[in-house]
Amino acid sequence: MKKIIAANWKNNGDKKFIKNYFEYFSKNLNNTNKNEIIFFPPDLYMDQVDKYKKQSNFRLGGQTLNTAGSDSDGSDLVLTSGTSSEMYIDNGCSYILIGHSEIRQFSNFLIDGPKMDRGLTESETIILALQGSDSLQVIFCVGENEDDKNAGDTHTILSEQLDDLCYLKVKPKKFIVAYEPVWAIGSGKIPTLEDISFIHRFIKSSILEKLSSLKEKDIMVLYGGSVNLKNAKDILCAPHVDGVLIGGASLKVKEFTSICNLKI
Ligand code: PEP
Repeated sequence: MKKIIAANWKNNGDKKFIKNYFEYFSKNLNNTNKNEIIFFPPDLYMDQVDKYKKQSNFRLGGQTLNTAGSDSDGSDLVLTSGTSSEMYIDNGCSYILIGHSEIRQFSNFLIDGPKMDRGLTESETIILALQGSDSLQVIFCVGENEDDKNAGDTHTILSEQLDDLCYLKVKPKKFIVAYEPVWAIGSGKIPTLEDISFIHRFIKSSILEKLSSLKEKDIMVLYGGSVNLKNAKDILCAPHVDGVLIGGASLKVKEFTSICNLKI
């Protein structure tokens, strides 16, 4: 089955980096598996990366969403520094990351002021992504932190986080979840392959339990957290893993291209 291989660049890169990166990537990509490759560059460089999209056949996505021109109750929302789903679509994006742990920790800070005294919830952010006919495909990030894990609360935390995705009036085209244990992000530590498979299976069952009309084929679960060339093949081949979301290693063009070229 076709897998997703996604590169989360976070706040890295500049014009020179992008030019060098795609000169190499376009020449050396040999994606015989026809996996779906997605780049999540910083918003300011979306256009620079978009130029190489046709040549290398990848998709583009935004790293977060904070306004879509209207609040969840339909009233206008004006936000300095806001980026709407329409803007992402206008700039060639088809995906959006929602609920990344680095954003969750600041979500009460992003939208705060006289009009709204709280941050947007993850559900509200998803609704913003789904508004309009050309909606963005949400990749919804979930994951427990180290304390949750040590307390044996992983399943409870994941199930609570998944409520935000499942109990919406509007449904995404496909349910794509990225399981990113917070303790594995950028740390060099990863769960065992058995644990990854077990948790991905749990995420799929939990969504199916909450939304009985869905079929398993409508759900994909990606793994994220310290994926690199050494561990990518094993992770991608593990049961219930439908792809990977890669941070640090996606900035190293040779390493990321080799991951995209893996025979899975
Ligand atoms: C991430 O932050 O989404 C991520 C997966 O980072 P890394 O691969 O660097 O752990």
